[in-house]
Amino acid sequence: MLSETDLARELEATREQLRNLIERNADAIVVVDQSGVVRFANPAAEQLFRQSAQELVGAPLGMPVVVGEITEVDIVGQGDVTGVAEMRVVETEWGGAGARLAVLRDITERKRGEQQREQLFQEQVARAQAEEALHERDEFLALASHELKTPAATLSATAQLLQRQLARQGSLEPDQLERALERLQDQSQRLGRLVDRLLDVSRINASRLTIEPEAVDFVALVSDAVAACQLTTGRHSFVLTGPDELVAWLDRDRLNQVVNNLLDNAIKYSPDGGEIEVTISSTRLPEAEVCLAVRDHGIGIPENLRDKLFERFYRAHNGEQFSGMGLGLFVTRHVVELHGGRITVDSPPDGGARFTVCLPLRDETAHSLH
Ligand code: ADP
Repeated sequence: MLSETDLARELEATREQLRNLIERNADAIVVVDQSGVVRFANPAAEQLFRQSAQELVGAPLGMPVVVGEITEVDIVGQGDVTGVAEMRVVETEWGGAGARLAVLRDITERKRGEQQREQLFQEQVARAQAEEALHERDEFLALASHELKTPAATLSATAQLLQRQLARQGSLEPDQLERALERLQDQSQRLGRLVDRLLDVSRINASRLTIEPEAVDFVALVSDAVAACQLTTGRHSFVLTGPDELVAWLDRDRLNQVVNNLLDNAIKYSPDGGEIEVTISSTRLPEAEVCLAVRDHGIGIPENLRDKLFERFYRAHNGEQFSGMGLGLFVTRHVVELHGGRITVDSPPDGGARFTVCLPLRDETAHSLH
């Protein structure tokens, strides 16, 4: 049996141990009463809040003390956010009444480390993106130079040939001259188109590509383009179907560019020739639209690459066989979208590719005209 003095001593020893545990604890411990006023704060709490226990006790803690999950709280010391702490709260009793005991662990350093790591990661991502952009630009410059060099070289070779023939013969035969002039015109037009495309891309990048819609007979526009394209190929035969006339609000030059891009691609990507079906249709519902489908029987496009075709520089068929800069469909999509329309692609089951452009019949960009 313990004597009363032994009991008192033991009790005092236990109290001392408890006090030690609380006083020396690295975590801040505060007790908050029912009205949110601090009733107790240990030395670690003084450090965390940068206030003495006397200042803390009797004043509101200044943050919600909610029993339950661990929460992250900003530590405000003398008006400033001085750090972050992880707070755990349990129910307790203080002076015979219900209270809350909050244990706060200073995680400011850990958070700072996390932030630094996140910043470092973001910087790495930005660096990788910048390198990727540089790489893309270099690849594009190589591709564009190659594309521009071909017509430029033909222009120069044709001019040299003319000079040599003139020097040798003293004059030029009319048909020699005509052939050379045709080639010169052809190649300078090709050069012009390439440069225009590059200019369009820089306009799109700077959001400066604009359209000037007017009432245009879309059927006439397409059939003129088809007729002109038919003259450039003996291996393909164009089959145009559609109404006799269909007037829509379109930018004539830009739409010409769209139609020619689709027709040129249909020829280019069906090197063995074949039929190219060009179909014009219109719908009234759900919206009044005109649609143009260009379908070839060429190499087609694998399904997983179709979404990317309209991206800048994207080429599904790289290599020597097909020249190009991967910009035509990018510009085409922008022009179509500026008209309030859309462009899609699919590969019909019996091969080839089909590009479909749908445009609103009315001028989506200038409602005041109607
Ligand atoms: P380019 O022809 O100069 O490469 P485009 O932007 O006009 O650029 O076309 C992008 C890519 O889409 C082409 O490189 C090609 O891989 C694919 N493509 C376009 N039209 C067709 C088509 N009719 N058939 C198959 N692939 C096509």
